[in-house]
Amino acid sequence: SESKVSEPQVDGNLLVAQALSRAGVDYMFGVVGIPVTSLATRAVSCGIRFIAFHNEQSAGYAASAYGYLTGRPGVLLTVSGPGCVHGLAGLSNAGANTWPMILISGSCDQKDFGRGDFQELDQVAAVKPFSKFSAKATDISEIPKHVFDVVHHALAGRPGGCYLDVPTDVLHQTVSESEASKLVAAAESSRAQQATEQGVGILETEIQKAVSLLRSAERPLIVFGKGAAYAKAEDALKKFVDATGIPFLPTPMGKGLLPDTHELAATASRSLAIGRCDVALVVGARLNWLLHFGEPPRWSKDVKFILVDVSKEEIELRKPHLGLVGDARLVLELINKEIKDDPFCLGKSHPWVEAISKKTKENVSRMELQLSKVVVPFNFLTPMKIIRDAILAQGSPAPIVVSEGANTMDVGRSVLVQTEPRTRLDAGTWGTMGVGLGYCIAAAVASPDRLVVAVEGDSGFGFSAMEVETLVRYQLPVVVIVFNNGGVYGGDRRNPEEITGPYKDDPAPTSFVPGAAYHTLIEAFGGKGYLVGTPEELKSALAESFSARKPAVINVTIDPYAGSESGRMQHKN
Ligand code: ADP
Repeated sequence: SESKVSEPQVDGNLLVAQALSRAGVDYMFGVVGIPVTSLATRAVSCGIRFIAFHNEQSAGYAASAYGYLTGRPGVLLTVSGPGCVHGLAGLSNAGANTWPMILISGSCDQKDFGRGDFQELDQVAAVKPFSKFSAKATDISEIPKHVFDVVHHALAGRPGGCYLDVPTDVLHQTVSESEASKLVAAAESSRAQQATEQGVGILETEIQKAVSLLRSAERPLIVFGKGAAYAKAEDALKKFVDATGIPFLPTPMGKGLLPDTHELAATASRSLAIGRCDVALVVGARLNWLLHFGEPPRWSKDVKFILVDVSKEEIELRKPHLGLVGDARLVLELINKEIKDDPFCLGKSHPWVEAISKKTKENVSRMELQLSKVVVPFNFLTPMKIIRDAILAQGSPAPIVVSEGANTMDVGRSVLVQTEPRTRLDAGTWGTMGVGLGYCIAAAVASPDRLVVAVEGDSGFGFSAMEVETLVRYQLPVVVIVFNNGGVYGGDRRNPEEITGPYKDDPAPTSFVPGAAYHTLIEAFGGKGYLVGTPEELKSALAESFSARKPAVINVTIDPYAGSESGRMQHKN
């Protein structure tokens, strides 16, 4: 018993870290403090990289995007009470976008709960609307099982956010090293036994039905979204489009699965493509607001939808003509196999393909004409074209583009060109503003070979601007371009007759300090800042910062009255 007493002990903090590492977690994002500071240190000692943020909101957005980009759950670590509440931003964003993420939060001492303990909150109840699955470790021995469970549920089926609660007293409990290893091994093996394979159970007859619908369609279209990107379906998509000659339409984050420059891309003829198609194969994209709910007048009332989604509930909700529940890549591979046995291809002279390609060419050349006009002081288009060309000049691996803001995101979506999968992150399904810097940091660590370029409105940037220090601290290759038009939507656009009352002389609710020197923010931490207002200045700042691959902020002065209120909210996406 002498040797038993002296056996090294493992506390709750270390056991969480050991279990996470065994469950395949390689990155954590968060803000430390009581009671989780030691958990972060222990995670690092177990080989997990911990990226420390200023604010849990940004760290949570980073964790959600990390899950999307890597297919491994992004983990957010927060302190109890307010830390957990701030973390709900990231957790809910992961849920809305169907990305795998885990929020791990310390919580107050179990014995003091209900008596007004430090940072006391019923956190399991607080996360409930935003999590797929949650667990609370009430004793140290439960930690490994719960860790494996949250990792499993974050990834299984439709990905989403999960929650693990670790009370302060549990983090401080100890078990012996041998007991800790036993607990981790037991959790791992029971999880492995329960693992089920996704995508099995798709009936061959369903695949045949889908192919025969596509074969007999006059105006078929394939639409794909970030679920297909998450499934890494790009090779299967390319095969499908090469074999069938069917035009395709990516959703904003589906862009790049096939290059925007592909001759069958219908991005620039979107209204025609969705308005006239008679059969639409929709892969890993919801028929939600982004796709006008799949309803008239944007879609034809007779369109037959074939939906491919990993979530059975999603298919039941939309009631498509045909639903295929399964992983996007696996289902497309089955479809490709079925087509190979009896091939069909529309060909360039097919009237539908011709109509799409004619409209695309018209719209692209109209846009290029607009882009060729150099406007100074800058409107949105002139700098966006310069940025587009600088990004394209990077070649492969293509930079990851992070985009948010009203006009900036809207114009960016139609002007910036995506040529590689998973290289666009934007406000997403939830229209979440403030994701910018968190997404940049996640992108930089998830794809270390890629440059990250954020194209942000000044208001979007402001949500997480302090994280420029995080960029500098970790020396991440991120260039943040701020379209600075002095506020939300830009200058004061109020009708003067509506501005009355005792506070009528206050700045407009939409306006910020004009000419804000955002570039000097990053200089405060040793990063590089640029202030630009002409094409030459912008080109030179881009050339220098892209080749330096060091954290930089380019503050681009935009005419405060360029653009429109809310971007073009009638389009929303
Ligand atoms: P977008 O915003 O690009 O239109 P959505 O987020 O609306 O995309 O839709 C993504 C869909 O993809 C979700 O319904 C989700 O269930 C689904 N999904 C997630 N992972 C997969 C996968 N591996 N295979 C197929 N569908 C998936």
